[in-house]
Amino acid sequence: MKLAELGEFGLIERIRHQAPQGPDVFRGIGDDAAELILPAGHHLLTSTDLLIENVHFRRDWTDCESLGHKAVAVNLSDIAAMGAIPRYLYLGLACPGDTDLDDITAFLTGAIDEARRYNVALVGGDTCHSPGPWLISVTIEGSAPANQSIGRNGARPGDLIMVSGTVGDSALALALLCDGKMPEHSLLARHHRPTPQVELGRLLGERRLASAMIDISDGLAGDLVHILHSSRVDGLIEECKLPLSEVFRRITEGQPALRELALYGGEDYELLFTVPPDRAAEVTALCSEVQLTVTTIGVVGKGSGELLMRDGLAVTKPIPVKGYDHFCQSRK
Ligand code: ADP
Ligand code: MG
Repeated sequence: MKLAELGEFGLIERIRHQAPQGPDVFRGIGDDAAELILPAGHHLLTSTDLLIENVHFRRDWTDCESLGHKAVAVNLSDIAAMGAIPRYLYLGLACPGDTDLDDITAFLTGAIDEARRYNVALVGGDTCHSPGPWLISVTIEGSAPANQSIGRNGARPGDLIMVSGTVGDSALALALLCDGKMPEHSLLARHHRPTPQVELGRLLGERRLASAMIDISDGLAGDLVHILHSSRVDGLIEECKLPLSEVFRRITEGQPALRELALYGGEDYELLFTVPPDRAAEVTALCSEVQLTVTTIGVVGKGSGELLMRDGLAVTKPIPVKGYDHFCQSRK
């Protein structure tokens, strides 16, 4: 069956039927606007992401369920990076009328499962025809008690620079796909089904452990520079301390162009944050509590936003910041 046979309102009705709800949803899907109840004293945090077919994803490289999962996961990651609690989701979807309904169903399953996993309610969206590529727009709202969220601008000289999990895996999977190779399952999953660090982010906020935080979407180096610029400080990272997975080490061994994906590759969706040195032990304890690894990769120094790297020879060198720029259409 094709989407055109179900129609816009048939699809919306289907979504409404499956959408996870919560006690804090006063009005959800089906009205002109959602009406939501925030806990007293909380601030609202909002983030939105666009995903366009053949720009952000290729449907011949991913299955639609993973696509739905990822569209929600990357938004959850933004709320986690603020140290906040994700609550509400809005789903905008545009696709051609001749789209297989099975593809839409799989996409919704992936998106809704991921929202449900983190107790996030699907409370609205928009549905349109597209003359060609799929277009997915996800908006997420979260909340945090006043003065608890973690911005990019709070890093101070002397703070430690920490990162959760491992970096480079997602970008390595993409590089292999671009090269016509099929990455092994665990690596491919890092690209297609990223895990947002929702619990770690929320607890870092609740316990006020991080002075600044960001999630890694554009690459560790580029995202760290966002913190350094916002905080008007320098950062020094040790290349040998970057947390690399066993599979990443194996595949990139002796291949510097692939190895540097740990620094410049994107879409890790790990949390990158700074911690005052006297709180570092609490972060370590928190990580064993949530069963995650966190690695200290460097330190914040006085300065004006420069990122430096020590390569093991006690030589300090500036590293060029490369990140994806949509309008330059290349890494620069
Ligand atoms: P409007 O004409 O006011 O834009 P719609 O007919 O587009 O209203 O939507 C009706 C209801 O369905 C609204 O509550 C809207 O938020 C919800 N909705 C529409 N599309 C989606 C979607 N893709 N996912 C979730 N909710 C949706
Ligand atoms: Mg509409």
